[in-house]
Amino acid sequence: MTLRAAGSALTALAGAFLLGLSPAGAGERAAIMRPSMPVPPDAYPIATDARLGGDASRTRLVFDLSRTVEVSAFTLADPYRVIVDLPQITFQLPSRIGERGRGLVKAFRYGLVMQGGSRIVIDASGPVRVEKAFVLDAVDNDPARLVLDLVSTDRDSFMRNLALESRPSRTAARPSERDARPPNDGRPLVMIDAGHGGVDSGAIAPTGEMEKNIVLEFAHALREKLEKTGKYRVAMTRSDDTFIPLGERVRLSRAAGASLFVSIHADAITHNTAEVRGATVFTLSETASDAEAARLADSENRADVIAGVDLSAEPEEVADILIDLTQRETKNFSASFAHSVVGEMKATARLNKNPLKSAGFRVLKAPDVPSVLIELGYVTNKEDLKLITSDAWRTRTAEAIAQAVNTFFTTRLAGAPNPGSN
Ligand code: ZN
Repeated sequence: MTLRAAGSALTALAGAFLLGLSPAGAGERAAIMRPSMPVPPDAYPIATDARLGGDASRTRLVFDLSRTVEVSAFTLADPYRVIVDLPQITFQLPSRIGERGRGLVKAFRYGLVMQGGSRIVIDASGPVRVEKAFVLDAVDNDPARLVLDLVSTDRDSFMRNLALESRPSRTAARPSERDARPPNDGRPLVMIDAGHGGVDSGAIAPTGEMEKNIVLEFAHALREKLEKTGKYRVAMTRSDDTFIPLGERVRLSRAAGASLFVSIHADAITHNTAEVRGATVFTLSETASDAEAARLADSENRADVIAGVDLSAEPEEVADILIDLTQRETKNFSASFAHSVVGEMKATARLNKNPLKSAGFRVLKAPDVPSVLIELGYVTNKEDLKLITSDAWRTRTAEAIAQAVNTFFTTRLAGAPNPGSN
C-alpha cells in the first residue's frame, strides 16, 4: 500500500506562506502558476494545485480550486487523521503530491468517496485541532482556495473534541443496494470486488499506475466473461472510481445473496522487486500462511483507515453460533474455488512461487459466502506491471478465472448441499 504521491512543490514553498495567514493568503501567490484549464460551465469544480506551509505547531494546507465549494472538516483517532469532505471535485493535481508532509501533516490523499462527494484525508503526525476550514473566493490572479489550518494539541483535548464534534453523517460511501442486486432469476450470483477506489489508490507502481484502476479494469473484463457464459448473474461492489469500505463490500455481497465473492487486487513490495512476481490466490484464515501473507493482509485491511472511515462507527461483525458451522462449509468452498483458480491461471498467467495462501483479510469475512482474493501480480515488478495492464493478458486471465468459476459451480451443483444458492 503506497500513498498517493508527493511533490517538490511542497518543499519549494518553504515557510513563506504561513506568514500570510490572513484569509487573503497574500503569501501564496508565489506558488506555482499553471495554465488554467478550460472549464465547461457545468463540470465539477477542479482542484489544480495543493501546498503545505507551517511547522509542527501550526500547519496550513491549501488547495487551489476553479470555484468555491462548501467544506466540512472533522478529525478521527487511531491513527490521527483529519477528514475534509467536499462536493465532487475533479482533482488535477501534480502527480505524487501529498506523499511528503510538513509540520503536522505526514501525508494527504484525495479522491471520490461517493457519487457527488469527494474527500481529502490527512494523516496527522499527532493530535491536532482543526482551527479553521474555509474557502476563499477568487481574487485578482488568485484562484478560489480551500484553506485548512491545523494546530497541535494534546491527546486528551483531541479525544474530548472528538466526542463533542458534530460528525457529518456522510462518513462513508453507501452505494445503492439496487446496483449490487441483479434480479434473481435462479442463476447463482457472482460478486466481483475491485479493491480500493476513489480516495484510496491502493498500490502505486513506480511509473504511477494505480492498483485501483488496474483492478477495476480487470473486474469489468471478468464480469464480461462471466456474463457471456449465460450461467450467472454478476454484480460488482464498485463499477467506477468510488471508495467502498471493507465492511460494506462484505455487506453488499451478503445482502445480494452472492454465491461467490471474488476480490481483485494487485500488490506492491519494497524489496526484491525484480524477483518477486506473479499472481497469488488468498483465502481467509485466522493465522496467516506466512509472513508475506500477513503483511499483505495488514496492508489491504488498512483501506478504511486510508479513506478516512470512522472505524468506531462500523457495525460489529455478525456473531451467531450457527455461523461457525456455516463458516466451515464456506471455508471448504472457498478453498476449492481457490484451487480451481490456481489450476486455471497456471496455463495463462505467471503465478507466484507459492500461489495459494491465506491470511486475515477483512473483505473475505462473510460467514456464508465463499470468498477469495486474487492478487493479479506486483505493480512494483516491471514484467508483472506490463502484463496486468495489457489487454491480451487481462482477457485471457479473466477467461481462466471464469473457467474456474464454471468448475466451482459444476462441482458444487454435483455434490454439495443447497446447490448454487445462498
Ligand atoms: Zn489491494
